[in-house]
Amino acid sequence: MHNKTSLSQLAADPSCMDDYDPSAMSVTQARLFIAQFLQPVTETEALSLRESLGRVLAVNIIAPSNVPAHNNSAMDGYAFKFSAGVKIIKVIGTAFAGRPFMGNLKAGECVKIMTGAMIPKGADTVVMQEHTVQKSDNIALLEETKQGANIRLAGEDLKLDQTVLAKGHAMKPADIGLVASLGIGEVQVFRKLKVAFFSTGDELVGVGEKLEAGQIYDSNRYTLHSMLARVGAEMSDFGNVPDNPILLEKTLLEAAQNNDVVITSGGVSVGEADYMKALLAKHGQVLFWKINMKPGRPLAYGKVAHAHYFGLPGNPVSAMVTFYQFVQPALLALSGAACMAMPVFKVECTQAIKKTTGRTEFQRGLLFADAETWKVKPLPKQGSGVLSSMSLANCFIVLDETVGNCAAGEMVNVQLLEGII
Ligand code: AMP
Ligand code: MG
Repeated sequence: MHNKTSLSQLAADPSCMDDYDPSAMSVTQARLFIAQFLQPVTETEALSLRESLGRVLAVNIIAPSNVPAHNNSAMDGYAFKFSAGVKIIKVIGTAFAGRPFMGNLKAGECVKIMTGAMIPKGADTVVMQEHTVQKSDNIALLEETKQGANIRLAGEDLKLDQTVLAKGHAMKPADIGLVASLGIGEVQVFRKLKVAFFSTGDELVGVGEKLEAGQIYDSNRYTLHSMLARVGAEMSDFGNVPDNPILLEKTLLEAAQNNDVVITSGGVSVGEADYMKALLAKHGQVLFWKINMKPGRPLAYGKVAHAHYFGLPGNPVSAMVTFYQFVQPALLALSGAACMAMPVFKVECTQAIKKTTGRTEFQRGLLFADAETWKVKPLPKQGSGVLSSMSLANCFIVLDETVGNCAAGEMVNVQLLEGII
């Protein structure tokens, strides 16, 4: 793969590398290309456990104890020392969760035990209450219970000294609970990424303002803000900037100054004579690509000062697709998150799709339940300006470069837009 110097070399002279064609980049090539320049942040901060939701661990979390700490009962029942053939056992006490029975059980003795209560000394088996009959101080065992039954062993969930969560892990609700189960109340995480963004275009108007003829509302800054919020970035919104070289230059330089990443939308179409390209050539090392994909063909990536720069296409659907396919994975990598491939799986597509080979398409799709089976259909309007298709979709139908027309009933790859968490 290419090395670091290639960014400035390539920006100055795209023909300097044999296998590099900015006007025909595959999705995979572009992803790999960007990945080589991503150095994760190094600064960390200590957060209280609850605050760490969604953040990336900067250290391994090692178990300071077993979880559970003691053998305990998985059932409400009676704890006793197993002995083959024994049917009647004497009840000599009770063990509650958090209030152990402190005695030592002898053969023929048991204690009534609640779920989660510590197994008393001498006991090795728990019989479910439903499998017993109590008669005065004794219980009769109605069914054969296996030795060791209904006991949760110490360390069954987490073992002392094991790595519970590795550095680079992004904290989910289950992780927060897991760390709490170890009694750890504070964790070390990487700092948030600082991301600046702005929209470009003379036609753009902020929401709340009146539209004149030919103007449109700047929706990209709203989708971008939301997508960045989901990634957990610390955001700086530089507004919508008209196609004015002085204003664009000022905003670009300001945005790049104290941020890890700058994202713009609009004005990066390859071959288009516009100010952004000239500015980026002047102030950064930025590569302009035509990606073999639909939607989202033009994409710019590079560096402006110390900030990573992503120039997204202006069309609202293209901006979202390129964000999800290139920017989001890059932001996760920069946040120190361990690489997690987005799951892609095959589902039957109920409608035919027209497609030419040689490019990857991310069609907006709807996964729906057809009797017992989940199937997918493409949404009817697939234009790169039809943002309602993104709103209606719950998945991308991913048709890679090798795929041509799909007949109804064929299996297609899908990528979920929303997960359970
Ligand atoms: P551009 O990439 O600047 O040539 O823009 C391509 C298309 O996207 C044009 O129709 C623009 O009007 C539209 N567009 C650009 N920026 C935005 C934005 N921030 N919000 C909504 N549409 C936009
Ligand atoms: Mg524009």
